[in-house]
Amino acid sequence: MIGTQLVDSNCPYCGEPIQLVIDCSIAEQEYVEDCQVCCQPMLIQAVLDDDGFANVSVLTENE
Ligand SMILES: [Zn+2]
Repeated sequence: MIGTQLVDSNCPYCGEPIQLVIDCSIAEQEYVEDCQVCCQPMLIQAVLDDDGFANVSVLTENE
């Protein structure tokens, strides 16, 4: 699958629903993004499975 995927998740700090845009041209990626609600840094881990779907984990930066 080419392009980007929208993935719904929740902020690990404040629990607010967030929407992540995952770049599907990268098989494994990890990046930090600030929560739009509480502004704390979330560690985003995205791994594409064999079908090209992104499996996303959202962690606190210290995990
Ligand atoms: Zn938050």
